[in-house]
Amino acid sequence: MTEEIMRVEGLIKHFFTKQGTVRAVDKVSFSIFKGETLGLVGESGSGKTTVAHTLIGIYEPTGGKAYFKDQSLEKDYSGRSKNLKKEIRIVFQDPGSSLNPRWSIKQILELPLKVHGTPVNRDQMKRITELLNMVELPPEEYLYKYPTTIGGGEKQMVAIARALATDPSFIALDEPTSALDVSIQAKIINLLIRLQKKFDLTYLFITHDLSLMRNMANRVAIMYLGKISEVAPTVDFFQKPLHPYTKMLLSSIPVISDDEEDLKPKKVISRGEIPSPVNIPPGCSFHLRCPEKMAVCSKIDPEMVEIEEGHTVRCHLYADG
Ligand code: SF4
Repeated sequence: MTEEIMRVEGLIKHFFTKQGTVRAVDKVSFSIFKGETLGLVGESGSGKTTVAHTLIGIYEPTGGKAYFKDQSLEKDYSGRSKNLKKEIRIVFQDPGSSLNPRWSIKQILELPLKVHGTPVNRDQMKRITELLNMVELPPEEYLYKYPTTIGGGEKQMVAIARALATDPSFIALDEPTSALDVSIQAKIINLLIRLQKKFDLTYLFITHDLSLMRNMANRVAIMYLGKISEVAPTVDFFQKPLHPYTKMLLSSIPVISDDEEDLKPKKVISRGEIPSPVNIPPGCSFHLRCPEKMAVCSKIDPEMVEIEEGHTVRCHLYADG
């Protein structure tokens, strides 16, 4: 897994509001490699969805750079090349609001084919049938149904089929299971894993649910108040977490065996809530909640340092590497 498909360098997305500047994404850097799933995890307000929406082109970046296969992502969706629009797709959190309730599933899947063109040598109807089969919805049963007549999991399968319509190589999955019943979540996750293998897809998987990452992600990045605080291969992430915030998140996830309980960091008591992104504390933005805070932490924002190959952390505890 060495071909870098997406490169993000110091990405900034600020929103200018009456209350002040919301620093939703503040100098975020990472790479995503072909065929992998990078899990981007954080609490509500951490900026993870804004990162995905900026890469997809819903927002234009305020600063920094991002590239997909060496093509710049500095423009928003309307300014991007046709090829970029086909290659980079998104599945939103709530399939109920992302699918037009007045359109049949056939019409929903027709739209991207009309806009982007049906892949060469494939008749449009044949392609729609193929897309429904890919997401395991029998076409004869679902083609003429409407989103209002099917369940949440089925709607999300239609949304996944719509994302696949243009033969993309990269899909941002923005909390794709958080609006669904637990019984349906596993089905959607397994479907996404199967589709990834079959079509060599690359995923950016956004979630607030760390336990989902174990089976889904090759690497995990943690976001806190618009910045990435730790990135690690999934195994290292769960077995050797470094950042106090990561330890806090891991110590609170449920486990199913004593072995897993032994591996978990000891319970870290969180002090308070995540501050507003309009009013980010100086120094390390986690210092108001950090149980390991030192004098330097409220004054100087730490740099990202690499501790082991592929395992980086932004915390003064590791400043000397
Ligand atoms: Fe805690 Fe300081 Fe590390 Fe921030 S830099 S996470 S406050 S120890």
